[in-house]
Amino acid sequence: MLSVPGLCWLCRMPLRMSRWGICSVCTRAFERRPPCCPQCGLSATRVDIPCGRCLQKPPPWGDLVAVDNYVQPLSSLIHQFKFSRQTQLAGPLARLLILAVLQARRSRGLPAVDLLISVPLHHRRHWRRGYNQSDLLCRTLSRWLRCDWQPDALKRTHATAVQHRLSARLRKRNLKNAFRLDLAVKGRHIAIVDDVVTTGSTVAELSRLLLQSGAATVQVWCLCRTL
Ligand SMILES: [Zn+2]
Ligand SMILES: [Zn+2]
Repeated sequence: MLSVPGLCWLCRMPLRMSRWGICSVCTRAFERRPPCCPQCGLSATRVDIPCGRCLQKPPPWGDLVAVDNYVQPLSSLIHQFKFSRQTQLAGPLARLLILAVLQARRSRGLPAVDLLISVPLHHRRHWRRGYNQSDLLCRTLSRWLRCDWQPDALKRTHATAVQHRLSARLRKRNLKNAFRLDLAVKGRHIAIVDDVVTTGSTVAELSRLLLQSGAATVQVWCLCRTL
């Protein structure tokens, strides 16, 4: 998959709005995602009330919005965005996320937020990659949704091991005190923006930190939700 200016990233048809990157036909395909729980974002029978798992043991955040599961074609776009330096995908991917947020506002009354926070990379990984993909998404989202974004609000205090290789218990220990918050968040309605949410333990840790620091509500916005 290579970028050709003016053509859709997915189907190669000419675009009416070239900066959108993905045509309206391919965009509509993402709107047919199977029903998912509004809180954990995993597949469920109802989209308007939390699933049984969330009722028993709710995650610390309030709502979750995702464009799709970690499936084709979104998974390849994200892979290129993160690992092949295709940073021009930030706009098209942020647009898909905005459409998912707006759809959730219409269909399930998702409340508006006033502050976006990106999931930080450890500075070594950030330096190696040259950018933080979550920052690139937030930059576009904050401009289009007209809400604040504080790029350095959160810092990773130490490099954490790759989460999905660890057990639940080790994951929690791995993340303990892994982040520091450098922003007053009292009373703010916040969305944490990440590219892929897998186990959810990173965004859970960040949600707890924000809520303990006085945030009014916390949502999680991601491109992909998967297990
Ligand atoms: Zn297309
Ligand atoms: Zn759920």
